[in-house]
Amino acid sequence: MRELIHPGQLTGFSARVVGAGASGRGAVKLLCALGADVRLLDNGSPSDETRELCERLGVPLDVGEHTKSQFEGADLVVLSPGIARSTLDEVLEDVADRKVVAELELASWFTSEPVIAVTGTNGKTTTASLTAAMLKAGGKNVFLGGNIGTPLSEYLVSDQRADILVLEVSSFQLQNCRSFKPHVGVLLNFSPNHLDYHRDMEEYLAAKLNLFARQTDKDLAIAPLELKKELTKREWTKAKQAYFVPTDRFKSDKLIGPHNQANMEAAWLAARAFGVTEEQAGGAVAAFEPKPHRLQVVADVNGVLFVDDSKATTIEALGAALMSFDRPIRLLAGGRYKGGDPSAIKHLVEQRVASVCLFGESREVFEPAWEGAASISWEATLEPAVKRLYAESEPGDVILLSPATSSFDLYENYKARGDDFRRIAEGLA
Ligand code: ADP
Repeated sequence: MRELIHPGQLTGFSARVVGAGASGRGAVKLLCALGADVRLLDNGSPSDETRELCERLGVPLDVGEHTKSQFEGADLVVLSPGIARSTLDEVLEDVADRKVVAELELASWFTSEPVIAVTGTNGKTTTASLTAAMLKAGGKNVFLGGNIGTPLSEYLVSDQRADILVLEVSSFQLQNCRSFKPHVGVLLNFSPNHLDYHRDMEEYLAAKLNLFARQTDKDLAIAPLELKKELTKREWTKAKQAYFVPTDRFKSDKLIGPHNQANMEAAWLAARAFGVTEEQAGGAVAAFEPKPHRLQVVADVNGVLFVDDSKATTIEALGAALMSFDRPIRLLAGGRYKGGDPSAIKHLVEQRVASVCLFGESREVFEPAWEGAASISWEATLEPAVKRLYAESEPGDVILLSPATSSFDLYENYKARGDDFRRIAEGLA
């Protein structure tokens, strides 16, 4: 076991873990390793992996709607990253606020390695992965996790030992952190996503800035230059500050668009703080393979490029995608609307989009917002929408799936939506 974890440390402690995904399972393992009494609560249908884990560790698994009584006598309530505190207000009425923590907060109590934490509305996964790649190029042994891949709790109970932890952090997690303090905090951008959960913008921004609230002058806070004015109006951090703008310092064929230039700069500022040289960082960028479904070229059919940006679930991510091509764009957008203002990017649609085919839900949101900017059609599902745009297209065009919505109207997740797009595109070849 690692130095900060001792079996029996939380003996007699009664804990509830809410949410039985990867983070919830990680938290259960960590709490059990510490000797706590744990119950795992889930209002969905837990996987076989979860059931097996609970059986192996003797942890009761409560499935179904959360109730007040489930939390009676709890010393600690650990929330999984996808869970907004506000959705549990009623059932947690009798639990003191200080007892409710994010999985990240719990895990951070037992962590001694330096932490780089990346948050923001868009680009977290890309930037955290880039940062880790740069650090590795600088010879560091890195753990990359948090919201992506392995949760921090899981790392703590594993045998892995890293010099530096690079964590992707969501604003839901940050809402329930009281002591978590990264050595380097990165805020990539800020826009009104998830407004259906966060009570208002101020609360959402406060959650993001909570990342920097306990940093000291030995730490580093990294943010976009365009937010500097807004940030310095508040006492947002005591850390040293570094601001980034997109530059062409680094080159990559696969990370396209000005937003990725900004991501690279943010990653570079973070990696540089740990002694990585610009040359090492440049090498890491050149070799970097972005994750699928983020502006990924999936087919070229008779000179028409098919690009899968299914992970673009916000208006800002769509805006970034539209800025990334010089060719005429045939845009596929629509799905379960998450908020944001599509009229904010009407000028980009007008300048860069030859035609739009909306598919699935939210036609009533996009159609009026972009009226007159491009020709707009609608199909109930993705396949006829792709076929329609392909029939309209000319060699040199790009057919771009960048939906600016979540996929849950038609698909299980953004991956399934992107995979379906690729299948349809390949079928046209
Ligand atoms: P996250 O982990 O925050 O969801 P990802 O790196 O997975 O971010 O990218 C999600 C979507 O956002 C993709 O469509 C990507 O092209 C877009 N994106 C990435 N970086 C940025 C950025 N800095 N600004 C706007 N959009 C971005």
